[in-house]
Amino acid sequence: MPNHRRFFIDPNNIDGSDALITGETARQITKVLRLKEGDVICLLDGLGNEHSALITSTSKDHVAARILGANTCSRELETELTLAICLPKSDKLDLIVQKCSELGISRYVIVNSERVIAKLDETKVAERLARWRKIACEAVEQCGGARVPEVNGILSFSALTTEIAKNDIALVAWEEEKSVGLKKALNANAGAKSVMLIVGPEGGLTESEVESAKSAGAVCVTLGRRILRAETAAIAACAAILYELEGEL
Ligand code: SAH
Repeated sequence: MPNHRRFFIDPNNIDGSDALITGETARQITKVLRLKEGDVICLLDGLGNEHSALITSTSKDHVAARILGANTCSRELETELTLAICLPKSDKLDLIVQKCSELGISRYVIVNSERVIAKLDETKVAERLARWRKIACEAVEQCGGARVPEVNGILSFSALTTEIAKNDIALVAWEEEKSVGLKKALNANAGAKSVMLIVGPEGGLTESEVESAKSAGAVCVTLGRRILRAETAAIAACAAILYELEGEL
């Protein structure tokens, strides 16, 4: 199935073998892609299930389809990787969310740490979270995945530390760490299935934040001798963690 024929729909809009597609997705199917009755599409419920479906009718803003079959997507990863990212400036998080979603991460936790420069007005938070969720959804649709990463936030650093223990291992990317790299930290926790990676903002994490993450069980790792920008650090480290833990790269 070509990737442009894959669409996420709300599982509530699937009733037995009938699916109803509405809103922007319906317009995309009929107006942009000009698909019609008799064409086959792929519907994703966002939980990892793919349904192949036959379009049975279209109208201005609705597409009705009959489900032909369902299967669990084989492009999902075994590792549950959570990226806890301190809010970077401007639209850098858009890039991070797009790229890490393509790589196959499971969850984002957006964090407001001490040195976060970005000012996020309370009223805009919901809007930005919705935007990042949409970017994640489009990235997964486009690359053939079937599970949309969660986007949670915005948490304070201390609230983040309470999330650390929920993972088999949590790593803090810390430029002051000189000896433990990703490989070493992951090898010391062989068999870890759920990993959290914490990346600081442009100004870095404070020592006390790093200490509190360590006391909650996190391990500091270096990403090499160069100081990377937060977005490079996040994307490169996610790719490296998945390389280490998923056999297929
Ligand atoms: N404090 C630094 C820059 C922070 S870079 C300064 O102002 O000079 C932003 C984030 O990327 C850091 O908080 C860290 O999480 C991650 N990072 C960048 N380069 C890194 C490296 N070489 N090793 C580990 N983490 C790194």
